[in-house]
Amino acid sequence: MDHAADPSHPRYRSLLMRHRLEVAAKKGMLADSALIAHGRGEAYDYLLGETTIPSADFATRVALETLASATHPVLSVNGNVVALAGDEMLRLAHKLDCPLEVNIFYRTPKRMEALLSDLNERNERLGIDVEILGANPDATIPGLKGPRAKCESKGILQADVLLVPLEDGDRCEALVAMGKTVIVIDLNPLSRSSRGGSITIVDELSRCLENMLEMNVGDSSSTKKYDHHQTLQAALDSIVEGMKSKFSEQKE
Ligand code: ATP
Repeated sequence: MDHAADPSHPRYRSLLMRHRLEVAAKKGMLADSALIAHGRGEAYDYLLGETTIPSADFATRVALETLASATHPVLSVNGNVVALAGDEMLRLAHKLDCPLEVNIFYRTPKRMEALLSDLNERNERLGIDVEILGANPDATIPGLKGPRAKCESKGILQADVLLVPLEDGDRCEALVAMGKTVIVIDLNPLSRSSRGGSITIVDELSRCLENMLEMNVGDSSSTKKYDHHQTLQAALDSIVEGMKSKFSEQKE
Protein backbone atom coordinates (compact mmCIF):
# COMPACT_ATOMS: atom_id res chain seq x y z
CA MET A 1 0.00 0.00 0.00
CA ASP A 2 1.63 3.29 -1.04
CA HIS A 3 2.01 6.19 1.29
CA ALA A 4 3.15 9.73 0.61
CA ALA A 5 5.53 9.90 3.60
CA ASP A 6 9.24 9.85 2.83
CA PRO A 7 10.85 6.48 3.78
CA SER A 8 13.74 8.38 5.38
CA HIS A 9 11.35 10.02 7.85
CA PRO A 10 12.17 8.69 11.37
CA ARG A 11 8.51 7.82 11.92
CA TYR A 12 7.98 6.39 8.42
CA ARG A 13 6.95 2.93 9.53
CA SER A 14 4.60 4.29 12.15
CA LEU A 15 3.05 6.67 9.59
CA LEU A 16 2.67 3.80 7.14
CA MET A 17 0.84 1.69 9.75
CA ARG A 18 -1.48 4.59 10.59
CA HIS A 19 -2.20 5.01 6.90
CA ARG A 20 -3.09 1.32 6.58
CA LEU A 21 -5.58 1.73 9.42
CA GLU A 22 -7.10 4.83 7.79
CA VAL A 23 -7.61 2.90 4.55
CA ALA A 24 -9.13 -0.08 6.39
CA ALA A 25 -11.44 2.19 8.39
CA LYS A 26 -12.74 3.69 5.13
CA LYS A 27 -13.47 0.18 3.85
CA GLY A 28 -15.55 -0.57 6.98
CA MET A 29 -13.10 -3.17 8.29
CA LEU A 30 -12.52 -1.67 11.74
CA ALA A 31 -14.42 -1.14 14.96
CA ASP A 32 -14.66 2.46 16.21
CA SER A 33 -12.16 1.75 18.97
CA ALA A 34 -9.51 0.34 16.58
CA LEU A 35 -7.37 3.45 16.46
CA ILE A 36 -7.36 3.75 20.25
CA ALA A 37 -6.12 0.15 20.57
CA HIS A 38 -3.44 0.93 18.00
CA GLY A 39 -2.39 4.04 19.93
CA ARG A 40 -1.86 2.01 23.07
CA GLY A 41 0.43 -0.30 21.12
CA GLU A 42 2.36 2.59 19.53
CA ALA A 43 3.14 4.04 22.95
CA TYR A 44 4.70 0.77 24.10
CA ASP A 45 6.61 0.38 20.86
CA TYR A 46 8.07 3.86 21.25
CA LEU A 47 9.40 2.87 24.66
CA LEU A 48 10.75 -0.44 23.33
CA GLY A 49 12.76 1.55 20.77
CA GLU A 50 10.65 0.24 17.86
CA THR A 51 12.83 -2.82 17.66
CA THR A 52 12.58 -6.55 18.30
CA ILE A 53 14.14 -7.14 21.68
CA PRO A 54 16.08 -10.43 22.23
CA SER A 55 13.40 -11.99 24.47
CA ALA A 56 10.78 -11.32 21.76
CA ASP A 57 13.04 -12.82 19.11
CA PHE A 58 13.36 -15.98 21.19
CA ALA A 59 9.60 -16.12 21.87
CA THR A 60 9.02 -15.73 18.11
CA ARG A 61 11.24 -18.75 17.38
CA VAL A 62 9.47 -20.82 20.04
CA ALA A 63 6.08 -19.73 18.67
CA LEU A 64 6.99 -20.70 15.10
CA GLU A 65 8.19 -24.13 16.19
CA THR A 66 5.05 -24.64 18.29
CA LEU A 67 2.80 -23.72 15.37
CA ALA A 68 4.77 -25.88 12.96
CA SER A 69 4.53 -28.94 15.21
CA ALA A 70 0.83 -28.51 16.02
CA THR A 71 -1.84 -30.92 14.75
CA HIS A 72 -4.39 -28.18 14.00
CA PRO A 73 -2.74 -24.78 14.02
CA VAL A 74 -5.02 -21.80 13.26
CA LEU A 75 -4.18 -18.11 12.85
CA SER A 76 -6.91 -15.85 14.25
CA VAL A 77 -7.26 -12.35 12.80
CA ASN A 78 -9.28 -9.28 13.74
CA GLY A 79 -9.74 -5.98 11.91
CA ASN A 80 -6.50 -4.34 13.07
CA VAL A 81 -4.50 -7.45 12.20
CA VAL A 82 -5.87 -7.60 8.65
CA ALA A 83 -5.33 -3.85 8.19
CA LEU A 84 -1.77 -3.81 9.53
CA ALA A 85 -0.44 -7.14 8.30
CA GLY A 86 -3.02 -9.00 6.23
CA ASP A 87 -0.45 -10.09 3.63
CA GLU A 88 2.01 -11.30 6.25
CA MET A 89 -0.67 -13.31 8.10
CA LEU A 90 -1.70 -15.00 4.86
CA ARG A 91 1.92 -15.72 3.94
CA LEU A 92 2.48 -17.24 7.38
CA ALA A 93 -0.64 -19.41 7.04
CA HIS A 94 0.67 -20.51 3.63
CA LYS A 95 4.09 -21.32 5.10
CA LEU A 96 2.47 -23.37 7.91
CA ASP A 97 -0.21 -24.82 5.64
CA CYS A 98 -2.97 -23.88 8.06
CA PRO A 99 -6.21 -21.88 7.92
CA LEU A 100 -6.77 -18.33 9.00
CA GLU A 101 -10.00 -17.43 10.82
CA VAL A 102 -11.60 -14.00 11.06
CA ASN A 103 -12.63 -13.65 14.67
CA ILE A 104 -13.73 -10.18 15.72
CA PHE A 105 -14.90 -8.72 18.98
CA TYR A 106 -17.55 -6.38 17.51
CA ARG A 107 -19.01 -8.80 14.98
CA THR A 108 -21.40 -7.33 12.40
CA PRO A 109 -22.26 -8.86 9.00
CA LYS A 110 -20.91 -5.74 7.27
CA ARG A 111 -17.53 -5.83 8.99
CA MET A 112 -17.21 -9.57 8.45
CA GLU A 113 -17.96 -9.13 4.76
CA ALA A 114 -15.42 -6.27 4.43
CA LEU A 115 -12.70 -8.32 6.14
CA LEU A 116 -13.38 -11.55 4.25
CA SER A 117 -13.37 -9.84 0.88
CA ASP A 118 -10.17 -7.93 1.71
CA LEU A 119 -8.47 -11.23 2.65
CA ASN A 120 -9.75 -12.98 -0.45
CA GLU A 121 -8.37 -10.19 -2.64
CA ARG A 122 -5.01 -10.43 -0.87
CA ASN A 123 -4.96 -14.23 -1.29
CA GLU A 124 -5.48 -13.78 -5.01
CA ARG A 125 -2.94 -10.98 -5.37
CA LEU A 126 -0.31 -13.03 -3.50
CA GLY A 127 -1.06 -16.04 -5.69
CA ILE A 128 -1.74 -18.32 -2.71
CA ASP A 129 -4.79 -20.25 -1.64
CA VAL A 130 -5.03 -20.03 2.13
CA GLU A 131 -8.28 -21.33 3.61
CA ILE A 132 -10.09 -18.35 5.12
CA LEU A 133 -12.61 -19.22 7.83
CA GLY A 134 -15.06 -17.16 9.83
CA ALA A 135 -17.95 -16.71 7.40
CA ASN A 136 -19.91 -19.70 8.71
CA PRO A 137 -19.62 -19.89 12.47
CA ASP A 138 -21.16 -23.11 13.75
CA ALA A 139 -19.63 -23.22 17.24
CA THR A 140 -19.01 -21.02 20.25
CA ILE A 141 -16.09 -20.44 22.59
CA PRO A 142 -17.31 -21.53 26.05
CA GLY A 143 -17.30 -18.80 28.66
CA LEU A 144 -17.93 -15.91 26.25
CA LYS A 145 -21.28 -14.28 25.62
CA GLY A 146 -22.74 -12.77 22.45
CA PRO A 147 -21.37 -12.57 18.89
CA ARG A 148 -17.73 -12.48 20.00
CA ALA A 149 -18.05 -16.14 21.10
CA LYS A 150 -18.75 -17.32 17.55
CA CYS A 151 -16.21 -19.46 15.75
CA GLU A 152 -15.93 -22.32 13.27
CA SER A 153 -15.72 -25.92 14.43
CA LYS A 154 -13.08 -26.77 11.80
CA GLY A 155 -11.06 -23.68 12.78
CA ILE A 156 -10.68 -22.15 16.21
CA LEU A 157 -12.80 -24.79 17.97
CA GLN A 158 -10.65 -27.74 16.95
CA ALA A 159 -7.30 -25.89 16.98
CA ASP A 160 -4.67 -27.15 19.39
CA VAL A 161 -2.38 -24.16 18.80
CA LEU A 162 -3.69 -20.69 18.01
CA LEU A 163 -1.90 -17.50 17.03
CA VAL A 164 -3.97 -14.58 18.32
CA PRO A 165 -2.33 -11.22 17.69
CA LEU A 166 -3.79 -8.14 19.43
CA GLU A 167 -6.37 -10.29 21.18
CA ASP A 168 -8.83 -9.15 23.81
CA GLY A 169 -7.99 -10.45 27.30
CA ASP A 170 -11.34 -12.20 27.88
CA ARG A 171 -11.14 -14.21 24.71
CA CYS A 172 -7.51 -15.10 25.31
CA GLU A 173 -8.43 -16.42 28.76
CA ALA A 174 -11.39 -18.37 27.36
CA LEU A 175 -9.20 -20.02 24.71
CA VAL A 176 -6.56 -20.98 27.28
CA ALA A 177 -9.33 -22.40 29.48
CA MET A 178 -10.29 -24.66 26.55
CA GLY A 179 -6.85 -26.24 26.86
CA LYS A 180 -5.38 -24.63 23.75
CA THR A 181 -1.84 -23.33 23.41
CA VAL A 182 -2.43 -19.63 22.78
CA ILE A 183 0.34 -17.57 21.19
CA VAL A 184 -0.14 -13.85 21.74
CA ILE A 185 1.53 -10.95 19.92
CA ASP A 186 1.05 -7.80 21.96
CA LEU A 187 3.24 -4.76 22.60
CA ASN A 188 1.90 -4.34 26.12
CA PRO A 189 3.53 -6.90 28.44
CA LEU A 190 1.00 -5.96 31.12
CA SER A 191 -2.17 -6.64 29.13
CA ARG A 192 -4.39 -9.53 30.22
CA SER A 193 -3.69 -11.26 26.90
CA SER A 194 0.07 -10.99 27.34
CA ARG A 195 -0.12 -12.32 30.86
CA GLY A 196 -2.76 -14.96 30.18
CA GLY A 197 -1.36 -16.38 26.90
CA SER A 198 0.74 -19.55 26.77
CA ILE A 199 3.53 -17.91 24.74
CA THR A 200 3.72 -14.12 24.42
CA ILE A 201 5.72 -12.18 21.87
CA VAL A 202 6.08 -8.57 23.02
CA ASP A 203 6.72 -7.03 19.62
CA GLU A 204 5.00 -4.98 16.95
CA LEU A 205 2.76 -7.20 14.84
CA SER A 206 4.13 -6.54 11.36
CA ARG A 207 7.74 -6.63 12.58
CA CYS A 208 7.14 -9.94 14.37
CA LEU A 209 5.50 -11.50 11.33
CA GLU A 210 8.32 -10.40 9.03
CA ASN A 211 10.73 -12.11 11.44
CA MET A 212 8.63 -15.28 11.50
CA LEU A 213 8.48 -15.37 7.73
CA GLU A 214 12.26 -15.13 7.50
CA MET A 215 12.87 -17.90 10.08
CA ASN A 216 13.24 -21.48 8.96
CA VAL A 217 10.98 -24.04 10.57
CA GLY A 218 12.97 -26.68 12.45
CA ASP A 219 15.95 -24.36 12.69
CA SER A 220 15.76 -23.63 16.40
CA SER A 221 19.34 -24.10 17.53
CA SER A 222 18.63 -22.84 21.06
CA THR A 223 18.18 -25.34 23.85
CA LYS A 224 16.87 -22.62 26.18
CA LYS A 225 13.31 -23.24 27.38
CA TYR A 226 10.59 -20.63 27.01
CA ASP A 227 9.86 -19.01 30.38
CA HIS A 228 6.65 -16.96 30.30
CA HIS A 229 7.31 -14.87 33.38
CA GLN A 230 10.89 -14.13 32.34
CA THR A 231 9.76 -13.10 28.83
CA LEU A 232 7.29 -10.54 30.17
CA GLN A 233 9.80 -9.31 32.77
CA ALA A 234 12.47 -8.84 30.06
CA ALA A 235 10.03 -6.70 28.04
CA LEU A 236 9.18 -4.57 31.07
CA ASP A 237 12.88 -4.16 31.83
CA SER A 238 13.51 -3.01 28.23
CA ILE A 239 10.71 -0.47 28.50
CA VAL A 240 12.08 0.93 31.77
CA GLU A 241 15.63 1.06 30.35
CA GLY A 242 14.26 2.71 27.19
CA MET A 243 12.59 5.42 29.24
CA LYS A 244 15.74 6.04 31.28
CA SER A 245 17.94 6.35 28.21
CA LYS A 246 15.51 8.64 26.37
CA PHE A 247 15.43 10.89 29.41
CA SER A 248 19.21 11.01 29.75
CA GLU A 249 19.56 11.73 25.98
CA GLN A 250 17.35 14.76 26.53
CA LYS A 251 19.44 16.06 29.41
CA GLU A 252 22.70 15.94 27.41
P1 ATP B 1 -6.36 -6.77 27.53
O1 ATP B 1 -7.84 -6.94 27.32
O2 ATP B 1 -5.55 -7.93 26.98
O3 ATP B 1 -5.92 -6.41 28.92
P2 ATP B 1 -6.43 -4.22 26.10
O4 ATP B 1 -7.79 -3.96 26.61
O5 ATP B 1 -5.40 -3.17 26.22
O6 ATP B 1 -5.80 -5.55 26.70
P3 ATP B 1 -7.23 -4.25 23.39
O7 ATP B 1 -7.50 -2.80 23.41
O8 ATP B 1 -8.31 -5.23 23.17
O9 ATP B 1 -6.45 -4.72 24.65
O10 ATP B 1 -6.11 -4.58 22.29
C1 ATP B 1 -5.08 -3.78 22.00
C2 ATP B 1 -3.79 -4.44 22.42
O11 ATP B 1 -3.01 -4.63 21.26
C3 ATP B 1 -3.01 -3.54 23.37
O12 ATP B 1 -2.43 -4.30 24.40
C4 ATP B 1 -1.91 -2.94 22.48
O13 ATP B 1 -0.71 -2.73 23.20
C5 ATP B 1 -1.72 -4.01 21.43
N1 ATP B 1 -1.32 -3.50 20.10
C6 ATP B 1 -1.90 -2.51 19.38
N2 ATP B 1 -1.30 -2.36 18.18
C7 ATP B 1 -0.33 -3.30 18.13
C8 ATP B 1 0.64 -3.68 17.15
N3 ATP B 1 0.70 -3.08 15.95
N4 ATP B 1 1.47 -4.71 17.42
C9 ATP B 1 1.40 -5.37 18.61
N5 ATP B 1 0.52 -5.04 19.60
C10 ATP B 1 -0.33 -4.03 19.36
